[in-house]
Amino acid sequence: MSNATIIDEKALNDCLNEITRALLQADVQFKLVRDMQTNIKKIVNLDDLAAGHNKRRIIQQAIFNELCKILDPGKPSFTPKKGKPSVVMFVGLQGSGKTTTCTKYAYYHQKKGWKPALVCADTFRAGAFDQLKQNATKAKIPFYGSYMESDPVKIAVEGVERFKKENCDLIIVDTSGRHKQEAALFEEMRQVSEATKPDLVIFVMDSSIGQAAFDQAQAFKQSVAVGAVIVTKMDGHAKGGGALSAVAATKSPVIFIGTGEHMDEFEVFDVKPFVSRLLG
Ligand code: GDP
Repeated sequence: MSNATIIDEKALNDCLNEITRALLQADVQFKLVRDMQTNIKKIVNLDDLAAGHNKRRIIQQAIFNELCKILDPGKPSFTPKKGKPSVVMFVGLQGSGKTTTCTKYAYYHQKKGWKPALVCADTFRAGAFDQLKQNATKAKIPFYGSYMESDPVKIAVEGVERFKKENCDLIIVDTSGRHKQEAALFEEMRQVSEATKPDLVIFVMDSSIGQAAFDQAQAFKQSVAVGAVIVTKMDGHAKGGGALSAVAATKSPVIFIGTGEHMDEFEVFDVKPFVSRLLG
């Protein structure tokens, strides 16, 4: 090994360590960071570095590409078709922004000429139906729910049936979220899913969830067929590195991000700016 190569290896390690710290601070899972480090060492050609090219740029570009790859599960999520009824079920922990995101998702599609509808199958949290009703009314989106009925499966089935009859093409079912992973939550979710047969299950994740993201996402995936991820609160300080874990745990892509409390603060997920932010 020439002297130059040894120096370049040190430069590579220094640069990798620095970027690793940034990624861990951005809540990227420790294991993913470690695997990526190993990969980068295989990919980055020390001879290229030795040739005097900008080392930092080469290493950064390699890491950028690796992170983009981690965010790509290899297959797109189910995409509802306008004019054809689809059922989309939202799951996630309480406070993740699930109910808000249901309305944002409905509103986004409504603006594009769809006929969305919202079903509140959250009978656990007092006020959940009111919240959904308020949001839906503001956006002029039809909604279904009940103050009396305590069985979320019954409400979900009734709501989905009604909106299918009304020719809605995007029937969105909001489910209960709990503070933590509870067996009862997962069982209820599983039953709602079994009864409504959603075409797509979306896992809603708060960008600040941190290192817990992998286990959370995996727990949801084990109960229902999660097919896509939405990361909320990207307007805050958190960089959302947990999204990489959620993609790895659910083998599903991130499709949208939430960027504020308002209905229109919602964007189609774009991998490059997301990764730039993680690194920056
Ligand atoms: P749920 O319990 O998962 O249904 O969560 P909610 O939809 O009630 O949201 C919890 C809180 O997060 C509410 O105060 C929302 O306004 C807020 N929230 C949801 N999405 C976003 C977002 O993208 N950005 C910000 N800043 N706040 C959000």
